[in-house]
Amino acid sequence: MLEYDREHILHPYAPSNPSADMTFVKSAKGVYLELEDGKKIIDAMSSWWSVIHGYNVEALNNAAVEQLSKMSHVMFGGITHEPAIKLAKTLIDITDTSLERVFFSDSGSVSVEVALKMAFQYWSSQGNSEKSKILAFSKGYHGDTFGAMSVCDPITGMHSAFEKILHKNIFAEAPGCDYNAEWDEGYIADFASKLEQNHKEIAAVILEPIVQGAGGMRIYSPHFLRVVRALCDEYGVLLILDEVATGFGRTGKLFAYEHADISPDILCVGKALTGGYMSLAATLTTKKVMHGVESNGNVLMHGPTFMANPLACSVANASLELLLHSPWQQRILGIETQLKEELSECNTLDIVKEVRVLGAIGVVELNRDVDLAWMTPKFIQQGIWIRPFLNLVYIMPPYITSSEELTQITQAIYDVVKEFAAYSKRST
Ligand SMILES: *Cc1c(COP(=O)(O)O)cnc(C)c1O
Repeated sequence: MLEYDREHILHPYAPSNPSADMTFVKSAKGVYLELEDGKKIIDAMSSWWSVIHGYNVEALNNAAVEQLSKMSHVMFGGITHEPAIKLAKTLIDITDTSLERVFFSDSGSVSVEVALKMAFQYWSSQGNSEKSKILAFSKGYHGDTFGAMSVCDPITGMHSAFEKILHKNIFAEAPGCDYNAEWDEGYIADFASKLEQNHKEIAAVILEPIVQGAGGMRIYSPHFLRVVRALCDEYGVLLILDEVATGFGRTGKLFAYEHADISPDILCVGKALTGGYMSLAATLTTKKVMHGVESNGNVLMHGPTFMANPLACSVANASLELLLHSPWQQRILGIETQLKEELSECNTLDIVKEVRVLGAIGVVELNRDVDLAWMTPKFIQQGIWIRPFLNLVYIMPPYITSSEELTQITQAIYDVVKEFAAYSKRST
């Protein structure tokens, strides 16, 4: 089977005939992935931010089975159903009171496409066709579809190959102030001047609140976000917050924008929405934005085939119920406290540039890029699944990870990074 995979199946951002070994997962339960040989390893990545309750969760399994026996799918054009209505209500209830309209889609990238369409149509429906650009940030990541790529970091991002054919947007310097940094107006100067100079053609600002994820795992000051919100209001520009990674408790707040006590005009959620069971995302917005979009008889021009898939919505409902009825704040605070304490040991290694922790996110930034083919088997030997990228060894474990399991993860990071320092010194 692995041979067939190597020959025929493409994996994320990977060559079509990879030389590195593929890890074969047979099943998964709790925080553990079971490999081909029966070995069980802890998934410290939550399958890319999504599996917050761990794998094979009874409540989520039951929700899926129950919905299967009713209907796994029905078109959403002209038809509606309970799982979607219930999910919309929960999302509206748990997000800022101003967010009252929900658009369901299949993935985080598509939720961003929808957000961009909302922003552009908000202005064009009201007769303002000048506003045709988005102001985004360096080191940002918003997905892999073309609209989403056009607001990802244009140079160091993964999409530099497409630079010439992407919609030309405007980019401000990435937030440079740490979470607890003392505020200095200099941090926002580049953004403020780009907004001031270009606001007439800017439809919206897009940004990942508090944590820039796949573009560099950077954690920044809530005050930065507050000032972005204030400047957007001052210049009459919409604010899109992409919480596809940070949503549903990951940073210690249910949504990361709560750290700054602000709210967006448009909000994207995805990844953990179904507890990692299946692909589902949503774009929420205000009455005011939808009124704008629908001025002069227009409607939002989007409608995926699998919009509001009942099976996915049912699992999302079960996942949110499980989350909201769990002591998630305490759990995440516990993980944060332990990660801060245990990962700080990595600071004693010369190869480590910085250790950063927020909520259930831990980042060890090295002063050189990792060697994935070398590092992955080392982590598996230690019983851990970690997927580093660039110079970042980072984790976002399931919220149910026990303190012993977390220690196993942080110890493995320390050991493997230390060994990597010696290895990479030898090989250069
Ligand atoms: C993962 C991610 C996306 C894209 O979501 P997909 O489901 O992979 O399309 C968008 N924005 C952010 C912040 C993400 O982390």
